[in-house]
Amino acid sequence: MDEHQHPGEAGPDAIVCALCGARAENGTPPPTWLFSVENGSRRYFCEVCSRAHIRAVEGRLDSTW
Ligand SMILES: [Zn+2]
Repeated sequence: MDEHQHPGEAGPDAIVCALCGARAENGTPPPTWLFSVENGSRRYFCEVCSRAHIRAVEGRLDSTW
């Protein structure tokens, strides 16, 4: 296996925001990105979308927690 980095080229393991499609550089999600596993598949949310995602989740929780 000889793996090369191809800048600007999205491979099968490219890390892309599940909501807005923003792509993480260097194939590594920044620490500000949210990572979650849903239905067995990995999903990433960029900084902006993770805030909206968290807000949506918190809004859904109400007082159930
Ligand atoms: Zn996003």
